Amino acid sequence: MNDKKTVMRVQDSKERINNFLEVELGYNDEEAKKEAERCLHCPNPRCVKGCPVNIMIPEFIKCIKENDLKKAYEVISKSSTLPSICGRVCPQEKQCESMCVKGFKGDAIAIGSLERYVADYAREHHFEEKVTIKKNGLKVAIVGSGPSGLACAGDLIKNGYDVTIYEVLHKAGGVLTYGIPEFRLPKKIVEEEISKLEKMGVKILCDVPVGKSLTIHDLEKAYDYVFLGTGAGLPKFMNIEGEDANEVFAANEVLTRINLMKAYLDSKTPIKKGNIVYVIGGGNVAMDAARSLRRLGMEVHLMYRRSMEELPARKMEVEHAKEEGIIFNLLENPVKILTDDDNHVTGMEVISMELGDVDEKGRRSVHELEGSLHTVKCDMVVEALGTSPNHLVFTDSDIKLDEKGLVMVNDDLTSEKNVYAGGDVVTGAATVIKAMEAGRSAAQKIMESK
Ligand code: FAD
Ligand code: SF4
Ligand code: SF4
Repeated sequence: MNDKKTVMRVQDSKERINNFLEVELGYNDEEAKKEAERCLHCPNPRCVKGCPVNIMIPEFIKCIKENDLKKAYEVISKSSTLPSICGRVCPQEKQCESMCVKGFKGDAIAIGSLERYVADYAREHHFEEKVTIKKNGLKVAIVGSGPSGLACAGDLIKNGYDVTIYEVLHKAGGVLTYGIPEFRLPKKIVEEEISKLEKMGVKILCDVPVGKSLTIHDLEKAYDYVFLGTGAGLPKFMNIEGEDANEVFAANEVLTRINLMKAYLDSKTPIKKGNIVYVIGGGNVAMDAARSLRRLGMEVHLMYRRSMEELPARKMEVEHAKEEGIIFNLLENPVKILTDDDNHVTGMEVISMELGDVDEKGRRSVHELEGSLHTVKCDMVVEALGTSPNHLVFTDSDIKLDEKGLVMVNDDLTSEKNVYAGGDVVTGAATVIKAMEAGRSAAQKIMESK
């Protein structure tokens, strides 16, 4: 019995730091079959319980073995509307794969890679879902075109609703378009998913900031239902001295310039470049910012106040970042950003940290190591310390928020009649698959309320 998973081919690290092409190259037919053969088809499959949308994993893997990719795609599509995307970006090692029995004594089945293989095959071979739409005369406005909004729109349009998405940015897709870099998720895939919805009749109105050019109340008057999927895109900052210097950025801004506005191709979109940049934080956003800036030719350091073991980013992203030459400054924390007389960044004052006991959240606490204050040189700082919902959308609305500023819902319904919400704006920063599921769940509630 093979205990090792079939490793996916990747672009060589020396080459890939000079381009934004996808790092992982996907399985070919032979590799996918080889990996599928490892699955035990457990009668009570734990992997399914680990997937937030309960894809029937052994069933679709069996279809790969039997060369029936059409059926494999049908099985996946029953539970997921964005499999090419989730197969790439889901934190599988914490979800489906973490529960796979093969993982007890060897490597778990590479479920995400197999899902990506099936979904890519379906896209390349134009497996079209046959839908007959019977209009029901009801209108829904969706605010936000991220995975929650797109999934909600998909289910509603197929069930006869007239759907319009309002998006503040000039391009649809939410974090899939402006946040996750091209080298992890090619934008062509996101564009294809969006174009499928448009072909079914979903209208997408970009450049509309709801809360400014029109309000939730306006939408309530013009539509039968409203869904809020506005995400959690407002960055948090460290609030330390020197943070207002010219070359201090939020990771979301850097990523938006690079991904959405293609600053690496287009000289019309400016992006500040430093020689030495410190990215502060340890999550996926920090890793994406660090790896993107590395591709722009900078010496990139990632500073995180705990150790490698506590680093919240996906293990695979950390490995890729190391291969690409990102320098990890662990157990360190900035306390001041140093500037010259013209407010340009020249370095940071940093303290070293040590780990303490496990706190009530199960995380090791951290303390300053006495006498450890020191200086590092740099000319750019990027902060990736988490995000919260932007409240612009709630201007003049009565939507109830909790103490963290997240929308309070009861069965996906907000405090306003016929106004539903889901995704990061309800849960705080989470994952693509959870946002997609929240959008589908709200669509279901809208249909049940008819
Ligand atoms: P979003 O994707 O944030 O979409 C919200 C949309 O609403 C945006 O397009 C926004 O412009 C729009 N909007 C906001 N306010 C208004 C307004 N007032 N009017 C009109 N439109 C508005 N998850 C994973 O599973 N795997 C990953 O690898 C991963 N990597 C990530 C990397 C980065 C850089 C980031 C930032 C997040 C990452 N995530 C990842 C998290 C994941 O992308 C989010 O959890 C998910 O996108 C949330 O979906 P959503 O639909 O709730 O919101
Ligand atoms: Fe695993 Fe994500 Fe696919 Fe579910 S959607 S099976 S968690 S990769
Ligand atoms: Fe296959 Fe693992 Fe799921 Fe068992 S738990 S069915 S081996 S993927």
